[in-house]
Amino acid sequence: VFLVLSVALRPIIAQSYLDSNISTEQRVNDLLGRMTLKEKVGQMTQYVGLKHMQGLSGVNQLDDIENHHPDRDFYPGLDISSIKTKIRNGEIGSLLLVKGLDEANYVQQLATESRLKIPLLIGEDAIHGHAMYVGATVFPTPLAMASSFDTALVKKVARATAKEMRLTGYHWTFSPNVDVARDARWGRTGETFGEDPFLVGEMGMAMVAGYQQNLKENGVLSCLKHFVAGSQPLNGLNFAPMDVSRRTLEEVWFPPFEKSIKAGAKTVMAAHQDLNGVPCHLNDYLLTDILRDRWGFDGFVVSDWNDVFRLQTLHRVAEDKEAAAALSVNAGLDMNMHGPGFFESVIKNVKNGTIELNRIDKAVKEILRMKFELGLFEKVLVDDDNEKKLLDSSSKELALEAALKSMVLLENKNNVLPLDTKKYKNIFISGPNANDQTLLGDWAVNQPDINVVTILEGVQNAFDESNITYYECGNHKNISDQDLQVVKQKALEADLSIIAVGDNSLRSDMNNRTNGENSDRADIRLFGRQLELIKAAHASGKPVIVVLVIGKPTAIPWIKNNIDGVLVAWEPGQYGGTAVADILLGNYNPSGKLPVSFPQSSGQLPTYYNHRPSANFRRYNDESTGALYDFGYGLNYSKVVFENLSVEDKIMKDQPIRINVNVRNGGPLPVEQSVLLFFRDNYSSVTTPVKSLLAFQKIMLDVGETKEVSFEIPFGSLALLNKDMVRTVEKGEFTFMIEDLKTSAKY
Ligand code: BGC
Repeated sequence: VFLVLSVALRPIIAQSYLDSNISTEQRVNDLLGRMTLKEKVGQMTQYVGLKHMQGLSGVNQLDDIENHHPDRDFYPGLDISSIKTKIRNGEIGSLLLVKGLDEANYVQQLATESRLKIPLLIGEDAIHGHAMYVGATVFPTPLAMASSFDTALVKKVARATAKEMRLTGYHWTFSPNVDVARDARWGRTGETFGEDPFLVGEMGMAMVAGYQQNLKENGVLSCLKHFVAGSQPLNGLNFAPMDVSRRTLEEVWFPPFEKSIKAGAKTVMAAHQDLNGVPCHLNDYLLTDILRDRWGFDGFVVSDWNDVFRLQTLHRVAEDKEAAAALSVNAGLDMNMHGPGFFESVIKNVKNGTIELNRIDKAVKEILRMKFELGLFEKVLVDDDNEKKLLDSSSKELALEAALKSMVLLENKNNVLPLDTKKYKNIFISGPNANDQTLLGDWAVNQPDINVVTILEGVQNAFDESNITYYECGNHKNISDQDLQVVKQKALEADLSIIAVGDNSLRSDMNNRTNGENSDRADIRLFGRQLELIKAAHASGKPVIVVLVIGKPTAIPWIKNNIDGVLVAWEPGQYGGTAVADILLGNYNPSGKLPVSFPQSSGQLPTYYNHRPSANFRRYNDESTGALYDFGYGLNYSKVVFENLSVEDKIMKDQPIRINVNVRNGGPLPVEQSVLLFFRDNYSSVTTPVKSLLAFQKIMLDVGETKEVSFEIPFGSLALLNKDMVRTVEKGEFTFMIEDLKTSAKY
């Protein structure tokens, strides 16, 4: 009987990794047991998709994407047909920058032709919606969404993004970026959730939860980046070295990663830079000691674009590709994102004993586990007509909701807003951001016009009683004298002007870009002559509303002092124009609060609210100290009053701390109010921030309504790192702050 059975079962046993009824662990082990070294290292290898490769294989391929440093042999011997062959041979485990559902299905077909038929993991930078995909929903950028202080909203956005990705054959998003942003010169500030580690961590956890829900059916893997402190290159220049003390790592840069890993994030991306002299891509302290041993991370680590190769060509810590591959894999790197020679180098290293086979097996297991958990072995092809489903109305509604909740009202002098369209009948609109797709921000492709509502269109749709005049001026880099004259004249003829200025982070418009990845700035004032344009409108003597379509904090002291209405729209996504119009008209009461401080000038950088006590003890000769607008700042159209902030008398060891406050809406409009609770440790053995965010809640208040808001703060949140770097809550008094209210309690 045994003999008969075992013969009968052999085909099943022989294919057991294809059997979805056995455990993932069994499937992983079975598959691993069948793999050759080449097939294993193939799983650790990621390349760009075929169409993208086609775009890069021209003569100037290198200059197009890597014009900042000389990786001259960037794609040696790599072209579309070699990528196809590699997929068929099982020598590629993952692709990024796949362009569209057709290509996704096509490359998966190729993968099924490989010996073991292991599906490809397809990754994409879907950081504010599946925005690199034509027709998908484009949400506000992460910095914008952080202004909502609404983690439930952010989770919904991540959920919607995941669904759209899976519909089109993508499984892995290189998001969330949980870098803490302290230097606005960095062009990627808008990819982050701002300057506060607590807020960044909360938003990161919400994104991870949203992306990874229902992994099998419609979830995607999230990827925390850039580990670590990727937002802190010297001088704000992407790729520049980082010099960050261990204390600052522990206090500022680690917590958002740690929290997001505890929330289950499956992958982590190393940062381009070197940290205190040790590049992150070979940093075993980061990739193994902290990530795995201390935080228990059990997913896989991917390199950033070409960064293993750059250990040789940029950082010069490896003499050749083989050494670079050995250093990074041995430090804990599991997958290489693009870049030449990784596959061959790893194989060589294993053969000569520089990398142990165990290390490879561990990396491959983690990658395979994800493919099983995503259900890719069961179903990997997507239906051809899924693109139609991208237009799912609920995601589009969510895009508008997110845009509304993200915008921050900075100024409302003389209560010019909400606009009285009876009073302001003739409205003039201009500015380089008034009527284009800059609303979409970085990491988005151009979307069909019909899917995007520009500010001009939003105003035209909503201001039915008004007479709208539009003047198309030059772009951010080309505002002419004539533009200034026309704007002044038209502003004079109108009752009120709306001037939309700011950034252009669009990848499709590289020559005119002012912000975004590798578009860093030494000067964070408005680019070019945009301020002159505003001054021209202001010179008319008529009221002016400035709408800032900006990817990051911008130094706007003149605007603060002179302009009546100032609205930060950020890069609000595809319905940004509708949201701007709704807020200007008061159809929505603005509720966003700044997740990042606005400095007075570039020279003040870094400017962040949670600084140590002596930061502003002395003054500049030529500049006032302190931010222009602080973290947490944001106006609305109602009179909201905070009263009776209270905390229990005594703080007890390991007991939660209860804090209450009453919030009343004195009208005239309902309001969504973010309640931000800060604290400080009044006297401590090491210097601690003057103020740190401890918790936040978002409440809805009708006109005249009062709500009691209660916080329960874990005791450990009051901890500091003492001189010996031990986390501890010290005896003494703590002060708690909400808006202008303060209260204290002793431990
Ligand atoms: C960026 C990453 C991104 C990757 C893939 C790199 O240049 O630093 O954040 O995920 O490209 O597009």
